[in-house]
Amino acid sequence: MASSKVLIIGCGVAGPVMALLLKKKGYNPIIFERAEALGDIGASFLICPNGLKVLDLVGRVSRRLLDNGPSIEWLLDYRAGGEELGCSDIPSNSKTLYKKPAVGVKRTLLASWLRDMVKDNGIELREGWSLESIDEMDHDVTAHFAGGRSETGAFLVGCDLLRATSRRLLLGKQGISDGLPSFTGLAQTSGISPTPVSLRARPSLRNWYGVNMHLVCYPITHEHTSWELTLPEDSGQEASWGLFDSDKRQAILGHVVERLRSEGWDEVVVELVGSAQRLIKYGIFDRPSLEPKQ
Ligand SMILES: Cc1cc2nc3c(=O)[nH]c(=O)nc-3n(C[C@H](O)[C@H](O)[C@H](O)COP(=O)(O)OP(=O)(O)OC[C@H]3O[C@@H](n4cnc5c(N)ncnc54)[C@H](O)[C@@H]3O)c2cc1C
Repeated sequence: MASSKVLIIGCGVAGPVMALLLKKKGYNPIIFERAEALGDIGASFLICPNGLKVLDLVGRVSRRLLDNGPSIEWLLDYRAGGEELGCSDIPSNSKTLYKKPAVGVKRTLLASWLRDMVKDNGIELREGWSLESIDEMDHDVTAHFAGGRSETGAFLVGCDLLRATSRRLLLGKQGISDGLPSFTGLAQTSGISPTPVSLRARPSLRNWYGVNMHLVCYPITHEHTSWELTLPEDSGQEASWGLFDSDKRQAILGHVVERLRSEGWDEVVVELVGSAQRLIKYGIFDRPSLEPKQ
């Protein structure tokens, strides 16, 4: 091996997991993160059995997830007004079927646990390093970052997501352009709320279906539930994942709650949405599919 140094771009979820796995294999990963300081934004994830299996490979994160909140036991579907449409105990069987349950978690909590592991394993994390370009040589690669800084490694792993600079640069080299994403006409409002008492007994992934509206929720701790409400909107903004301040949150919630009430939605949904302590909102975008290169 010419050099064991590996350049990992992005310290979200994939970046630290990749770094920890490569470290176990004897590489010397360095993570470069665009953000100056990774803050408490975003909402939550539902980690399914396959995700927990991957997290098992990097150590105690998987255990922390299981200690942090209830495993999902049921899938429950309702009409907007609350009438049950169907239920399934597939999640409670997933421990038997897949050797792991599914569990919800606040995104920044998972990300902070992963960063703790990165630190504990002596992996270097450079915050405030934003990838701008890549030079690929025969046996190594040099990444250039904002501010005129650069670093050379044996290979580079792009974990900077869909709008990734690494992806755009590497596709561009092959003459492939991603195309512009288009707004689907749907936006998602996503919040974290205290779990209503009537939802506490059965930790579940719950869906409510109304006319042009859908709400999905799941617990992320023993006291809190994360939810996402999908609604048609005239225009949408791509996710910035930033939280609304209290005034903006109350204004959005007031509008949404009024709409849910006027359309006869289940009172428990009105309570869940109306009591949100964190709120984010983003449009849902579609990307043209990439044509295979001949
Ligand atoms: C702050 C944030 C909050 C989010 N919250 C949620 C959520 O609550 N629920 C949800 O389902 N999804 C959320 N997402 C979307 C999220 O990207 C995915 O759900 C999931 O985290 C994907 O993991 P990932 O590691 O592939 O990418 P991400 O978690 O998005 O991590 C990518 C990282 O790369 C960094 N990066 C980007 N460009 C560069 C560059 N040029 N140079 C260096 N670093 C770069 C970003 O700052 C980011 O930290 C969020 C994304 C972000 C960035």
